[in-house]
Amino acid sequence: MNPATREFDMIVIGSGTCGATIARDLSCAGKRVLMLERGGNAPLKETLGGIVRIADQVKLGAGTLGTVRALTAGGSTAMYFGVVNDPPLDVFRALGIDLAGDFAAVRAELPIAPLPDALLSPQARHLADAARSLGHAWRKYDMLVDASRCASGYAYDAKWKARRYVEDAMRDGATLVVRANVERILIERGKAVGVVYRERRTPFGSTPREARAPKIVLAAGELASPQMLRGCGIEGIGARGFYCNPGYAIYGLVRGLRGTDGFVGCMGGELEDGIELGDANVVHAIHRPMMLGGMHLRHLRSFPETIGIGVKVEDTLSGRLHPDGRFDKQLGPDDLHKLDKGKRAAVEVLKASGARHIVDFGVTAAGRVGGLLQIGEHVDANLETSVRNLHVCDGSVIPDAMRGTPTLTLLCLAHYLSRRLLAP
Ligand SMILES: Cc1cc2nc3c(=O)[nH]c(=O)nc-3n(C[C@H](O)[C@H](O)[C@H](O)COP(=O)(O)OP(=O)(O)OC[C@H]3O[C@@H](n4cnc5c(N)ncnc54)[C@H](O)[C@@H]3O)c2cc1C
Repeated sequence: MNPATREFDMIVIGSGTCGATIARDLSCAGKRVLMLERGGNAPLKETLGGIVRIADQVKLGAGTLGTVRALTAGGSTAMYFGVVNDPPLDVFRALGIDLAGDFAAVRAELPIAPLPDALLSPQARHLADAARSLGHAWRKYDMLVDASRCASGYAYDAKWKARRYVEDAMRDGATLVVRANVERILIERGKAVGVVYRERRTPFGSTPREARAPKIVLAAGELASPQMLRGCGIEGIGARGFYCNPGYAIYGLVRGLRGTDGFVGCMGGELEDGIELGDANVVHAIHRPMMLGGMHLRHLRSFPETIGIGVKVEDTLSGRLHPDGRFDKQLGPDDLHKLDKGKRAAVEVLKASGARHIVDFGVTAAGRVGGLLQIGEHVDANLETSVRNLHVCDGSVIPDAMRGTPTLTLLCLAHYLSRRLLAP
């Protein structure tokens, strides 16, 4: 099938949370949708091999700071933890975007709740006890987890993933082309009319292709979309720098602890100053490559006794997105001060849990990257750019004021854009 020879009403670039949701909404309404996805479509598995196949590390600065995304059908939800924060409705309202109805619809459709106690891993409970003993308001977070699918405890498949919406869209007639790396958006007389992409059929070669449609939605994710928009001549992207929510993952060993796989990130607490501590008890499949990569061999051998805590801080906008797509950020003194404060608090919690052999990975792990695009500047309240018929909907347009986990907000934003695209 060559999409160049077919007619589409819309092309969606990227099949992550936003791309999949929009493709589903529009195909369900009878629109002919083409989804172009850079990654593959292999069944997702939370195994070392499965993770290595889809994980893409992106460097954010000269040092070790980096972040990770998943390149696959369904995007980063293939690897995410399923922790959700409510969308900041007032922040969006101030930008002319009312997400209240979409939020109510998402809540009605998806299982969103804190985990029942029975699904908390022994490590998560032990960490919570230690944090509370020090006076932290350690609480359970909402999760996008279907607890009815966890009869035998933790289950990767119980987490909602955008891949389900990709499959729904395809059932309703949408076309998915995987290993299709969109390189350029075609613009004619100020309007987006199609895309140029390379389809990789073998590990050694790719074929250039073109597809056309009267509407294009750029949903390639927070790291890819800003750069692609620059290629469309949209100015001022990244002029204020970017943020990346850097943090630490810190681990210790508690003798006699009988840890199991569990839902990482399910609990946590906030310190003042935009510093957050959280449960970092990753599953065995992730623990192994992490400890091996950090050469923490004692921890590598002792998964059941490993206990983990994460630190995440709100950093200031700084750094650059270079013309060649490289990110470049140095954390400032305020950011480093917060990281240090968070780390000291986290180590205190681990010590209170009885942990010994406490190790960390340095400031290597950043979270969500944002601040490069602005609603009201690079896209309007319809999420449309100055290039007509080119919309952007993904993590790149989340306002600076929101630093929590983005999935619920992105689901709402995607439904919001679908409604606009379907409006007569
Ligand atoms: C380890 C990890 C844990 C996380 N935990 C949580 C959590 O607990 N809660 C939460 O809310 N969020 C979490 N997130 C973040 C969340 O998964 C993402 O923010 C969200 O999925 C972003 O959705 P998106 O639509 O913006 O983009 P993505 O899901 O990143 O999708 C973008 C898609 O576009 C594709 N693409 C990129 N470039 C191109 C191109 N040139 N051509 C074609 N396709 C392209 C990619 O392959 C990808 O499939 C986590 C992320 C990671 C990596």
